[in-house]
Amino acid sequence: MAPPQPPPGTLSIQDLTVSYGRSVRALTEVSLDLPAGGIVALLGANGAGKSTLLRTVSGTLALHSGAVESGSISLDGTRLTGRSSAHIVAAGVVQVPEGRRVFSALSVEDNLKAGLLGVRGGSRAVVRALFDETYALFPVLAERRRQAAGLLSGGEQQMLAMGRALMARPRVLLLDEPSLGLAPLIVAKIARVIRRIHSQGTGVLLVEQNAALALQLADHAYVLDVGRVRLSGPAAELRESDEVRRLYLGEQDVEGEEGAQATLSDGHPALSRWSA
Ligand code: ATP
Repeated sequence: MAPPQPPPGTLSIQDLTVSYGRSVRALTEVSLDLPAGGIVALLGANGAGKSTLLRTVSGTLALHSGAVESGSISLDGTRLTGRSSAHIVAAGVVQVPEGRRVFSALSVEDNLKAGLLGVRGGSRAVVRALFDETYALFPVLAERRRQAAGLLSGGEQQMLAMGRALMARPRVLLLDEPSLGLAPLIVAKIARVIRRIHSQGTGVLLVEQNAALALQLADHAYVLDVGRVRLSGPAAELRESDEVRRLYLGEQDVEGEEGAQATLSDGHPALSRWSA
């Protein structure tokens, strides 16, 4: 009997080892599962390998002179490793890069249109519906639709970058540091949008140095340390752990503004309970 097919949007990373050139090994035997429609947070200090993991999933690693040495990435059982970034977008995995790169000279609407490049065969009605959905999620983008994207604030540019990715109708959204450099109120807004995206059935792999925010949003979290999975477990458990609160959350009220700004410390705790 054939094995049961996993549900649509299940991302599975198995024993992934990635290097840059001969001397930099950025990931070592990393395994991670994102269930369909789930939110998984990937935490870690600077240089832990978070962006490398996202680049590998989105097929953009070669642009950074990186290469997969071993391991695999699959979506619903179909291998993505070695496929082009265009193929991976068409398969439903879309990345919002760190630094929210938008086309600053283009209007907000034209930036959103650029997200449609990954969508095949969309009729006018489908495209209109995509714009309507995106503008409903980000009303500020509707108000600014004719303005050059470069004139938007940092938070609005983050929303535009997310909106552009959503125009491709992803089954899995890869978010790289969406809170980076944003004021707490804007971070709270972005968090609400991530929850809404999730409630509409899209899976989210969320890379964050802001552990408080990530653990509020995610179902499950992984902590990378020098390219290896150091801890993994349900976000609720990680959030409640005294050691994680002290070392990763700074013992602050994670619902408050200060908690929303908390960042990972450089030293990771050795919690055998969640060791991978
Ligand atoms: P940050 O939050 O600072 O972006 P990160 O967790 O995303 O950190 P990566 O950017 O994935 O970490 O980096 C992992 C390791 O790979 C680091 O040692 C980094 O110096 C190295 N690295 C990243 N990009 C390259 C590259 N293009 N060429 C060589 N080494 C790289």
